[in-house]
Amino acid sequence: MVRILGLVVAVILLVVWLVLMPKERPTVHADIVTSNFALYDAVRHLMPPEIDVQMLLPAGQDMHSFEPTPDDFKRLTHVQLFVYTSYGLPVTLLDFVAQNEVAQLRMDSEIEWRQFDKHRHQHAHGDTGHVSQASIDPHYWLDVNNQRNSLIYIATMLQEKFPAYAPYIQEQKLDYLAELESLEEHIRNAFVQCEIESFVVSHDAFNYFAHAYGMSTHAIQGLSPQAQPDPATMEAVIEMVESERIATLFFESFVSDTVAQTIAAQTGCKVDMLHTLANIDAPVSEGQAQPTYSSLMRENVAKIAQARRCQ
Ligand SMILES: [Zn+2]
Repeated sequence: MVRILGLVVAVILLVVWLVLMPKERPTVHADIVTSNFALYDAVRHLMPPEIDVQMLLPAGQDMHSFEPTPDDFKRLTHVQLFVYTSYGLPVTLLDFVAQNEVAQLRMDSEIEWRQFDKHRHQHAHGDTGHVSQASIDPHYWLDVNNQRNSLIYIATMLQEKFPAYAPYIQEQKLDYLAELESLEEHIRNAFVQCEIESFVVSHDAFNYFAHAYGMSTHAIQGLSPQAQPDPATMEAVIEMVESERIATLFFESFVSDTVAQTIAAQTGCKVDMLHTLANIDAPVSEGQAQPTYSSLMRENVAKIAQARRCQ
């Protein structure tokens, strides 16, 4: 009896520990913090390894539902530079950055922003507390040209801020620019001749990509990962999938694929995952290669080209 009781207590303690166990979060100290993965990848490449570069969001965290913790605020207070774009970030965080004189590099003016199609997305922006002025689409980095422009600007600013590293940054910038050029060529070659004009995603992140590389994209769910489309929207999506002969429905890595699966079951199409590059899907474990902007873009390109039946 005592042994059983002991076992029960042990199991209860284990469950309590599992429930209370904190999610893995970055440490409070960082030299440079960036607001999204595309900025992280650029800064990480430009700066030498001894500079500790971190993402604002913990790996696996969806940007649109991100709420900063006290540790996030603490980290920003001590950082040498916070590199960010404001669209899509929580207002509480931007207020904190403004009020606490955080060393910052705000990238907003360097980006060619696009607006969401107002008719399609009017219901999608009900999410609370995140900056979404004038229906600006925050996913600018999925157009390689925006990544290039932001890289050039960041490099110049980092050279000013860290003059000792200026030659290193210059070399790394040229290296990154060459990679972006090769990536762009790869993208253009992938979509020369395709049977299907558009691709369908659950999360509305791919407008920049579609616009830059000559295709169109339809989104099922808008921006909020929790959004559930109403029956009329579901019906419209199913009709569109059938009339445009869509073979694959994409969902993003942080979001439940339930809606995509439901539509797939009714239409007989496949379901697959795309990277939004706002963040990475999971912490990189030891021995595993760190995904890069370019590697994730190339994975997306291969999947979209296959879904559009490109040759
Ligand atoms: Zn997004």
